[in-house]
Amino acid sequence: MSATNSRIQKLLRILGQKKNATKMGSPQKEFTKLQIGVKPEMDALKEDLRLLKTVGLLVLKDSCFEDKLPFEQSESFRKTAAKFSKIYHTYDTIWSYRKTKTIGVHQRLTEQLNSFTEEVNREIDCHLTTNEIKRILNLINSWYAYQIDQRFFRKATLSYSVEHYMFLFHFLPKINPTVYFCECCEEIFPNEARYKKHVQSVHAVHAFTCSECGKSFKRLYFYDKHLKTVHLKP
Ligand SMILES: [Zn+2]
Ligand SMILES: [Zn+2]
Repeated sequence: MSATNSRIQKLLRILGQKKNATKMGSPQKEFTKLQIGVKPEMDALKEDLRLLKTVGLLVLKDSCFEDKLPFEQSESFRKTAAKFSKIYHTYDTIWSYRKTKTIGVHQRLTEQLNSFTEEVNREIDCHLTTNEIKRILNLINSWYAYQIDQRFFRKATLSYSVEHYMFLFHFLPKINPTVYFCECCEEIFPNEARYKKHVQSVHAVHAFTCSECGKSFKRLYFYDKHLKTVHLKP
């Protein structure tokens, strides 16, 4: 009981937090999979929580988040999430992309993502960008696949809250999940591993930037090697 309480406290604290977040533990032990992006981990988590709160889907980061909320508050999350999933359901070009893949569909996908974003903003009264919507869809995708795995392959009992929210997305493909969207460019990926690899190699901010040529590197070792081989040639 107190474990849940402290988890929700942490989540809410993160949401309200401005900075100085380096010493936090891992508040979403439950579900840490899609923790990758162009921002430092803590900022990315805060950003995810903000997005998920907007569409009523905090459950994605904490399956017990409802337990300690007043009834009206969890009802309001459920209502927003229901609106969101209802709109998402009508955009089958997006969530069944793998089934309908034909020539020209990529263009159509972009159009659909844009109008989906507009409709969500109008219906839920928020101001999400298409890239933020892509992030939300990626988070849903990853969470959904994880829960399906838990339920069908590990025979785990999902919490009442998770079951409720899973049902909102009953239309999502269970075997071949939908695609992952890069939140920084137009690329799409058939699975999470490829998506992560792309983000890491193309969009991640690397720690070491060469002052001579502007190339950047993840590790000092590679930067060092680059300096020696490219700029310090005898
Ligand atoms: Zn990209
Ligand atoms: Zn260089």
